[in-house]
Amino acid sequence: MKSYKIALIPGDGIGTAVTEAAWEVLGRAARGAGFGLDGTSFPWSCDFYEKTGAMMPADGIETLRGFDAILLGAVGWPKRVPDSVSLHGLLLPIRKAFVQYANIRPHRLLPGVEGPLRAGSFDILCIRENTEGEYAGAGGRVHNGTADEVAVETSIFTRKGVERILRFGFEQARKRRGKLASVTKSNAQKYSMVFWDEITARLAADYPDVEVANYHIDAMAARMVMAPESLDVVVASNLFGDILTDLGAAIQGGLGFAASANINPERDAPSMFEPVHGSAPDIAHLGIANPIAAIWSGAMMLEHLGEAGAAKAVMTAIEAATARGIGIEPGKHKTEDITAAILSALG
Ligand code: NAD
Repeated sequence: MKSYKIALIPGDGIGTAVTEAAWEVLGRAARGAGFGLDGTSFPWSCDFYEKTGAMMPADGIETLRGFDAILLGAVGWPKRVPDSVSLHGLLLPIRKAFVQYANIRPHRLLPGVEGPLRAGSFDILCIRENTEGEYAGAGGRVHNGTADEVAVETSIFTRKGVERILRFGFEQARKRRGKLASVTKSNAQKYSMVFWDEITARLAADYPDVEVANYHIDAMAARMVMAPESLDVVVASNLFGDILTDLGAAIQGGLGFAASANINPERDAPSMFEPVHGSAPDIAHLGIANPIAAIWSGAMMLEHLGEAGAAKAVMTAIEAATARGIGIEPGKHKTEDITAAILSALG
């Protein structure tokens, strides 16, 4: 029987509960489809940091490299470990080391979920560049603490980085409804964003079957609220994608439904799948975390592994549960009850 090696990093707070829920559902789906999931759990978290002084061991990245995929819960506990330490000690090194340059997030309303918009039917795939751009970390400060202090942060856009994320976007659009929206601010940022627009136009020639539209980030934010049904695949830089995907999570009913994948499209290192939400310290011990975002992220993992049938079965089971009103209102159902409803729909 075919089997996949999965690294599980539950992390902190609700990360552990939602990862456990996702793992149970994925295991059931795998058995139903006739393949195996061989999970190894790693305790890398803020607890681990307090015990060892690091978010993961020095050979953590090399340990993960041997896996087919990584399923992550959430990392962070700001009262005990500064977010800058927990993020830079675990998530960011993994994304960077494994060149997970495409951060993809689906935004649509599950059956029964009422979003804040009048629009009920939209299906957007946001693709955020995950390795460079505005978050490249290039910059510095001088004359610290004086009246002459200067802070500079430079965006880095490379031809390789922009081309590969746009090409990934075109490929996704081709598999979906054939529409690609490229997001920049090229009226105001006349170097990096004009560069992005030029590359979009050049690549468009390779994808004559994909309809391309260019938007400025401000217009795109308005469009996601006013006419989300007009959008299919949306590709944006690191910063713009970060902001748009929070908007996407909001219009799909909240963080309990927002799934994500950090993809290495070349498949020369593992990709990582994780809900968008964090460790939610405010509800961590109440047993009411919504596991749907984590389970949906798990379905994306199955899809990435080539198990489209099992991925579809998981999504159908999530939709059957939410259509019955399970897991659609924050705090109304326990994590275990939402998981049980999805497992029962899976059969
Ligand atoms: P958060 O996403 O943890 O929580 C924001 C709000 O949404 C909270 O009120 C929380 O209760 C609620 N919420 C989030 N997920 C939920 C779910 N599945 N079900 C029900 N309610 C849910 O964001 P935060 O409070 O800003 O961050 C807490 C910690 O998580 C911080 O340390 C932060 O750095 C970290 N964080 C980690 C990740 C990650 O691991 N990818 C992402 C975001 C935040």
